[in-house]
Amino acid sequence: MFKSGKTQRLPITRDTLKFMFRLVWREKPHLFLLYFLDIVFEVSMKMIEIILPKFIIDEVAAILGGGAAEEHLPRAALFAGLIVGLHLIVIVFDNINGQLMSYISQWFTEYIDIKIGEHAMKMDFEHTENPEALDTLNKAKEGMDWYSGGVCGVMFALVIILRNAAMLFGVITLILMTCPLLLPVQILSLIIITIFNARNNNIDAASFLKLAKSNRVFGYVLFQLADFRLGKDIRLYESADMMCRKADSFADEQIAAWTDCDKKKCKNSWVMDIVNSFRDGLSYFYIGYMALTGAISVGDFSMCVASASTFYWSLHAIVTGIQDINKKCAYAHRYIEFMNYPAAMPKGNSSVKQGEHIIEFVNVSFRYPRTENYVLRNINITIKPGEHLSIVGLNGAGKTTFVKLLCRLYDVTEGAILIDGVNIKDYSEEEYRKLFAVVFQDFFLFAFSLRENIALTGESDADRINEVLKQSGLYEDAQKLDNGLDTLLFKGFDEKGTDLSGGQRQKAAISRALYRNSPVVILDEPTAALDPVAEYDIYRRFNTLVGGKTAIYISHRLSSCKFCDRIAVFADDTIKEYGTHDQLVNRAGGIYAEMFAAQAQYYVDTV
Ligand code: ADP
Repeated sequence: MFKSGKTQRLPITRDTLKFMFRLVWREKPHLFLLYFLDIVFEVSMKMIEIILPKFIIDEVAAILGGGAAEEHLPRAALFAGLIVGLHLIVIVFDNINGQLMSYISQWFTEYIDIKIGEHAMKMDFEHTENPEALDTLNKAKEGMDWYSGGVCGVMFALVIILRNAAMLFGVITLILMTCPLLLPVQILSLIIITIFNARNNNIDAASFLKLAKSNRVFGYVLFQLADFRLGKDIRLYESADMMCRKADSFADEQIAAWTDCDKKKCKNSWVMDIVNSFRDGLSYFYIGYMALTGAISVGDFSMCVASASTFYWSLHAIVTGIQDINKKCAYAHRYIEFMNYPAAMPKGNSSVKQGEHIIEFVNVSFRYPRTENYVLRNINITIKPGEHLSIVGLNGAGKTTFVKLLCRLYDVTEGAILIDGVNIKDYSEEEYRKLFAVVFQDFFLFAFSLRENIALTGESDADRINEVLKQSGLYEDAQKLDNGLDTLLFKGFDEKGTDLSGGQRQKAAISRALYRNSPVVILDEPTAALDPVAEYDIYRRFNTLVGGKTAIYISHRLSSCKFCDRIAVFADDTIKEYGTHDQLVNRAGGIYAEMFAAQAQYYVDTV
């Protein structure tokens, strides 16, 4: 949790800086050299601006005081030339340095975006429904965005402090040599301004916290509005106005919060302006008095004014820099929190044995996280190696939940799932997931090439892809595509991208499952949108392709029952009936027998 208290801030700043230092050192160590050069260039430029004009003014004053022009004028010209020449050199190098730093900053922005995306994809599935985890994700993204300026934003905040510390050292030396009483005036005003500035920072931080949730919801609505895939529904249900109203209400909430924040900050800003005016008046009075009484030269007067101003602004930059770096680190720390977000499920490290697998559900009961009601109770079932199981039941009976538990997207609430006699919690997650090729009802095709959509992992074998496309019946259609397997799906990345029909999408999803070549294949109603006969055809075809692998087919219809070894009927949160088609169809008053009687027209020819 983000804490704004001072006690929390220090460790957060320290941890964040440590993290950033290590990251930069590992990925782009030469950034440290660029930062060092930046400090050297900026401090040199400031010192040139403060010191050299003093010499010109003193030369001119000497002429005005009756000195020989031919002696003093060339010296004044020399100093002026020196200022211009040195300035030019420093500016050129500073610019090159700035460009290199900006390139690296961009590089880190993309690096962090990728890391956040990668972690979000690899987090336990359960977190995708956990509002707290989603908030942490959102805060990580925002925290590393303009709130902190990302890796380079945080690092540069430190560079600014160091740069100003170096300038401060230089001007304190100059002030002590000329008008030392300037120091207390500047320091006092700075203390007052720092206190009021800190108050404003706290107001900002409180607003950030308050808006995190509304930002997430606002982002969701905006995403919905901009997502072309939802275009049909939005238009046909005329929901654009509703979406805009929602977006409007969240926008109003945000504007109200920021206005409130500005109002609260306004009083503090007034106090800071008044203190600034007093400080300037007092300083000029003191330096003017020193010059008039002859304690310092006219050139010293100019140098003192510039030093006083630099002293104040450097010290101010250091103090606000410390506040700023604390603030930036607090925001950036959200990224570290997200990357260390605790796993939802314990991780095992046992290896899955090669060969055939036996699956057992032993007294499994389950309720979804943060819900009260069990959706599955006392599930006991054994699926033998190579067995083809059909799971049927009405919508909401818990069929998909059963598959999610088997794939360990969630952990069971009670009981255990065993594979080859070992609790699935003990297996290494990576190895365990390889056991399954699942096509869910809401399977998703990406706006990438057909090849990438089938292979999904980085490497792809064109021969095997063509083979599975032939098996699923998509090969002919794929041949007609402009770029073959490399044709992009949808228009997201390429206006020439192709759109697939519903049937083609299902075939693509089935090809994906076949390509994965896992020992257990599961079809969870990817065909729900089809009519029962078409669904039956796809299931039967798929069943032939699957051959001797273990297969689980889910449907609220009876599409796959005919050719499956066993049927499990889910009802009332549990497995109500279990057996072969012949056993269940003849059970008088049974759920399966009733379903079959009602749907027989679709399957009677084939059963
Ligand atoms: P089926 O696949 O048989 O249609 P599901 O397994 O999808 O049924 O759903 C079983 C029950 O679990 C339903 O009451 C559903 O509302 C509930 N449910 C499904 N997913 C979630 C979830 N992520 N969080 C809470 N409840 C859920």
